[in-house]
Amino acid sequence: MSNLDRQATPSVCGGRGFVVAEPVRELLAPRRVQLGASTEVRRLLPNLGRRMVGAWAFVDHYGPDDIADEPGMQVPPHPHMGLQTVSWLHDGEVLHRDSLGSLQTVRPRELGLMTSGRAISHSEESPKEHARLLHGAQLWVALPDAHRHVEPHFQHHTDLPVVTAPGLSATVILGELDGAASPGTAYTPIVGADLSLTGGAEARLPLGPDFEYAVLSMSGEAEVDGVPVLPGSMLYLGCGRTELPLRAVSDASLMLLGGEPFEEELVMFWNFIGRSGDEIAQARKDWEEGSRFGEVQGYDGARLPAPELPMTPLKPRGRVR
Ligand code: MN
Repeated sequence: MSNLDRQATPSVCGGRGFVVAEPVRELLAPRRVQLGASTEVRRLLPNLGRRMVGAWAFVDHYGPDDIADEPGMQVPPHPHMGLQTVSWLHDGEVLHRDSLGSLQTVRPRELGLMTSGRAISHSEESPKEHARLLHGAQLWVALPDAHRHVEPHFQHHTDLPVVTAPGLSATVILGELDGAASPGTAYTPIVGADLSLTGGAEARLPLGPDFEYAVLSMSGEAEVDGVPVLPGSMLYLGCGRTELPLRAVSDASLMLLGGEPFEEELVMFWNFIGRSGDEIAQARKDWEEGSRFGEVQGYDGARLPAPELPMTPLKPRGRVR
């Protein structure tokens, strides 16, 4: 997924100044963003007043959309730097191509994990023959300074660990939950998990007090720590929790996102995460000149041009709203 916003504005994030040390219940409303011709997404991160949850720096929820007679998702080749992308589907499929030569169809409850490291480019599209429904989430994880220049790589994991309790089944997408670890490579203490609850179920999910957490609702009616969270919205939970009460009114699906608060201050612009405005400007220039980010083979269409840089210099900062 790409940030296709043509009026791209830089976002500064990271740093302890953003993190709420205590348990809170902060409901985040989605912002609707059009991605290409046929896909509208609900953007939960970055959000007004809440830019990150642990190293999670970007969260889009899309669908379920009926794309039976439509092309579905069509995101042309675009670059990434300083982050990992996580593709997670509940319905449909996404065909991933990247500049390393990867060609992989990602299906529901399989992990598509792309580590951009210093530079990669990729495209994402619904295959020509596709299921009627498309429903999923696209997420980015910021890479810490020590690892943000790693060689780019793509991982596809179809056999993820599942933690169960009565009425609850939790698939560990990234990081660790209740002792079960995802095979996906993580570079910071983090968790991403898909929670399936059966209608009427009540469960308490074990959490770590040093992590901050949020829960995204994918479908159904559920309460998180007593707060009803509707599909496409997200509840920020802060830190300092050892467990999380969940209640499903109907069958429901949630995504748990958490991690150690991200200490480093970041500059996010378009599809890049860096540490300075100069670094972002260089990445933008390299993409426009066709260097560094490689080439995606086989996508039927032109690559995405980078949006203009804003006139004001990009500087990482701490407490910014
Ligand atoms: Mn992307």
